[in-house]
Amino acid sequence: MLTERVYNFSAGPAVLPEEVLREAAEEMLNYQGSGMSVMEMSHRSKVFDGIIKEAEKDLRELMGIPDDYKVLFLQGGASQQFAMIPMNLMKNRVADYIITGQWAKKAWKEAARFGRANVVASSEDKTFSYIPDCSDLPISEEADYVYICENNTIYGTKYKKLPNTKGKLLVADVSSCFLSEPVDVEKYGIIYGGVQKNIGPAGMVITIIREDLITEDVLPQTPTMLTYKTHADADSLYNTPNCYCIYMCGKVFKWLKKMGGLSAMKEHNEKKAKILYDYLDQSRMFRGTVVPEDRSLMNVPFVIGNDELEKKFIQESSDAGFANLKGHRTVGGMRASIYNAMPIEGVEALVNFMKEFEHKNA
Ligand SMILES: *Cc1c(COP(=O)(O)O)cnc(C)c1O
Repeated sequence: MLTERVYNFSAGPAVLPEEVLREAAEEMLNYQGSGMSVMEMSHRSKVFDGIIKEAEKDLRELMGIPDDYKVLFLQGGASQQFAMIPMNLMKNRVADYIITGQWAKKAWKEAARFGRANVVASSEDKTFSYIPDCSDLPISEEADYVYICENNTIYGTKYKKLPNTKGKLLVADVSSCFLSEPVDVEKYGIIYGGVQKNIGPAGMVITIIREDLITEDVLPQTPTMLTYKTHADADSLYNTPNCYCIYMCGKVFKWLKKMGGLSAMKEHNEKKAKILYDYLDQSRMFRGTVVPEDRSLMNVPFVIGNDELEKKFIQESSDAGFANLKGHRTVGGMRASIYNAMPIEGVEALVNFMKEFEHKNA
């Protein structure tokens, strides 16, 4: 039995700021004098209305979301968006996808159920270890949108420059880099992410969508619940939302504001990632798997190249309080996810542990 919290490097659901968890614990039985937990509260109550409105306001402030974009708190996680996006946007039944990993591939496969989903670039030839050059892609004349997964959680790559969509709408899955750095929302038609990587508990997705894309003109037989307009018209309260999750996300937004906002977060995240990448670059045992120019600040995959030693490392690191360093089941090796809430001390301690492991097993 653990008596202390571990450093949790899980890719998701993932580490949350400790002070946010403490606050939520304090408010568990009686939220701000309401006499009940947020879990027990009607989503139509005045108190919850305050919670969701405040969460949206803080998110808008953090990301600088323009007034002509709607913020939707939806269920079904990021994966549900894989279908919602084509169902709502594929007017010509054509869309272009850039495949940089499993999540982009899943989204592409889902879109292919509704129309012509073209792969206009891919990095699968080198196990998704880089981001393809997207400066001059064969964008389809009739494409309704161009789709990317901006930070690839499994492979640890991140677009440092958005693709040239040649005037087409850009749709991006930012699940694993949500709120990790400043973002220019206006460059996207839709920017969305599951919240369990960098914001809150699992089970919810935040979709930020330009208002002109919210219409009744969706594919035939699109279910009511999968139509953006349903949720936009009802301010994310068409049916019972994931109330507790919205409340937790709101707390994380407040925490981010207190930390200095997204520019400060970026600086903090760069500092953390540098500690780990610098070590990987000079280690004679461990090595990163991604080309340096496309490295993610959030997910850092690395290998030893020896199954036995990797197994030993995962076991010993776990015993020492570094949880969830095992790589994704499809790629093996190790992966450290160092989201916003991972303190710098956690990364420093991990690198010290790796140095010691390298020394002992050289
Ligand atoms: C985790 C993840 C998803 C899937 O999220 P769910 O909420 O489980 O559907 C999609 N895209 C990316 C980039 C992810 O990291």
